[in-house]
Amino acid sequence: MNTHYLTSSRTNPQFYIFSQLLGQDLNWTSELCNWEAIQNVAWEEFWQREGHELLEQKWHKRFPEYKQLIEVVTPEEQELWQELWEKHASDSSAKFWHIFSCAFENYQHDLAKSFGLLEQDLENLSLDTKPRKIKPRKTTESEQEDSYLTANDDPEDIDEEQQLLLLGLPTCFASKAIQKNRKQRKPQVESSSSDSEDSDELFNMENDENRALHGVQSGGIKKNKRRQRQANKLKARMPDFMQEENSKMVKYWFKRFSLFSRFDQGIRLDRESWFSVTPEKIAKQTARRLACDLIVDAFCGCGGNAIQFANTCGRVIAVDIDAEKLAMAKHNAGIYGVAHKIEFVHADFLQFAASTRIRPNVVFLSPPWGGPDYQKQALFDIEKSLLPVGASHLMQISRRLAADVAFFLPRNSDMKQVIALSGAGQQCEVEHNYLDTRMVAMTAYYGRGIIRSQ
Ligand code: ADP
Repeated sequence: MNTHYLTSSRTNPQFYIFSQLLGQDLNWTSELCNWEAIQNVAWEEFWQREGHELLEQKWHKRFPEYKQLIEVVTPEEQELWQELWEKHASDSSAKFWHIFSCAFENYQHDLAKSFGLLEQDLENLSLDTKPRKIKPRKTTESEQEDSYLTANDDPEDIDEEQQLLLLGLPTCFASKAIQKNRKQRKPQVESSSSDSEDSDELFNMENDENRALHGVQSGGIKKNKRRQRQANKLKARMPDFMQEENSKMVKYWFKRFSLFSRFDQGIRLDRESWFSVTPEKIAKQTARRLACDLIVDAFCGCGGNAIQFANTCGRVIAVDIDAEKLAMAKHNAGIYGVAHKIEFVHADFLQFAASTRIRPNVVFLSPPWGGPDYQKQALFDIEKSLLPVGASHLMQISRRLAADVAFFLPRNSDMKQVIALSGAGQQCEVEHNYLDTRMVAMTAYYGRGIIRSQ
């Protein structure tokens, strides 16, 4: 078993992928004893590759005045900055380790479950050695549901004033730094359009709105009124169906920038698409993996994947049976400036595949999962529950077009069925996609051209 992992983003929510090459001949359970080693290797590789940049990015966001100050500070102050950096590095790496190890632990359980292991067996899989820095916290079911929000809880949001004082910085220096920091941070959050700041702002706003929406008292009356006003404003911007349905729908609205980072520029989604569109970070990663001359996106919906394919592939053919969805996809692709690279085809993919002479390099399949009820199945049966036909049938017709096929599947898909799609003697690569600690979906890759070599 080989496990890769990577994070493709340095912004919240963190995106982790664990992927493995799997074949029908693999005696999967015999490999389980290696989990600790796999985790350590994965973490070390990740931290070596991404750690320093992650720390630097957080540092500059937290102390924007640092760059200007560092040229004028005295050697003593420089020493204090150094201490502050060391504390920042140690706190932040601990926090990253924590999120990573939670995601990794969830991965073990998710993978075991998708192989049909029972709860009893799962208990035996728990890591029995202590993690190196901090103990991974097991997320409960309800925390996992909301983990887009909870895991966004940034390690940097500790009280800076307290931290500077703890480090023994001179009071005048500390207050100057903090005041300047505060002054500089405020306009930055308002004016910046970077992903990371957007999502931080979103997180703060969401937290405030969340508290107001759920009536949690956490401050003076004035504060609550302000929050209530913010919550009302937020509600007014939500689509009608979300306002009418129960408060659970609010969480989909909170995820809007996870779905499309340019959501505010006029992205159009119908009700179904709110639940089924691929989050942008995952779509980006899939597009990087599937970069080629010509790709077919067989069930394109409102365009989340097709837009990202347009950035990595020469040409994209986006097929959907629903003309309205196709129109939304075209509109959304326009917002990302890539509509000219996509050919939108209004067709039933089964008929399209049977009649077309086009021979793409890759076919990408993100067929309907049958609505949110897929989550209720312990093991999602990809032969019986996918629409319009079972996975094997879809694979068969897709392979007529291209040898390389990728499948975007529910997180609880039956892994034995997923592996069986690769055919006798062949392997597939299965990626488990996590946003923070929550598994969102899996992507399975079939065909030599797209699976990573050992
Ligand atoms: P989910 O069940 O995951 O919510 P959707 O209902 O959003 O999935 O379906 C994904 C997309 O597939 C939709 O845009 C839908 O119109 C499209 N679709 C469904 N059947 C076909 C088909 N036979 N050919 C092409 N597109 C299809």
